[in-house]
Amino acid sequence: MNDKQQVAESIARIRSELDGRARLLAATKTVPAEMINFAIEQGLNLIGENRVNELLEKYEQIDRDRVELHFIGALQTNKVKYIIDKVDMIQSVDRESLALEIERQAARIGRVMPILAEVNIGREATKSGVLPEQAIEFCRYLQTLPHLELRGLMAIPPKSEKIGENRKYFSEMRKIFIDISSINVDNSNMDILSLGMSDDYLDAVECGSNLVRVGSAIFGKRVYPETDK
Ligand SMILES: *Cc1c(COP(=O)(O)O)cnc(C)c1O
Repeated sequence: MNDKQQVAESIARIRSELDGRARLLAATKTVPAEMINFAIEQGLNLIGENRVNELLEKYEQIDRDRVELHFIGALQTNKVKYIIDKVDMIQSVDRESLALEIERQAARIGRVMPILAEVNIGREATKSGVLPEQAIEFCRYLQTLPHLELRGLMAIPPKSEKIGENRKYFSEMRKIFIDISSINVDNSNMDILSLGMSDDYLDAVECGSNLVRVGSAIFGKRVYPETDK
């Protein structure tokens, strides 16, 4: 795990590399609330958590007035109710049953939840997300749900072996994003393409990403608790 000075330097460096082309989301899994708050002091204004329990544990401690909080991980349908009033966006909407539950819970508390549709761009059996050829139909479905606001697409491409290897997936996502934006219906404002992590965020931005999700390049190597691998 990096110390504060390294975190501050990493945020400044990544910001200058992005040069206004993409928003920087800090992926904060395993990062203690105190370090998250330090990052927020450095001007970071967007964080993403990917476990419901961890989000709930840290929620009260995070300096929430100055930061937007997105959910970016695999989400069990029965846990939607715990985060529906706490997050500003759910980036990982990967199936109809999840979308329906978010719709139900958002309606219950009288809010509209901004979401991204997650696409399994590498067609990996182990990854969540709809297949690329199902993306348009899935988005049309999402746009019928009145308490969801479809804001764009998210993907986690396969782990790459070589630098630049994921550019083909990023470009494919960009094409799907343009196709879907062009069939826009009323309640949608498709403006977010969430692609790129620590190893490939600049490739992603060059291929059209406008939101990168960066964890270890900011906070250092993650240390997982023994019991929670
Ligand atoms: C952890 C995580 C990231 C960031 O991963 P790094 O390789 O550490 O940058 C991005 N997106 C999601 C969904 C994640 O869970």
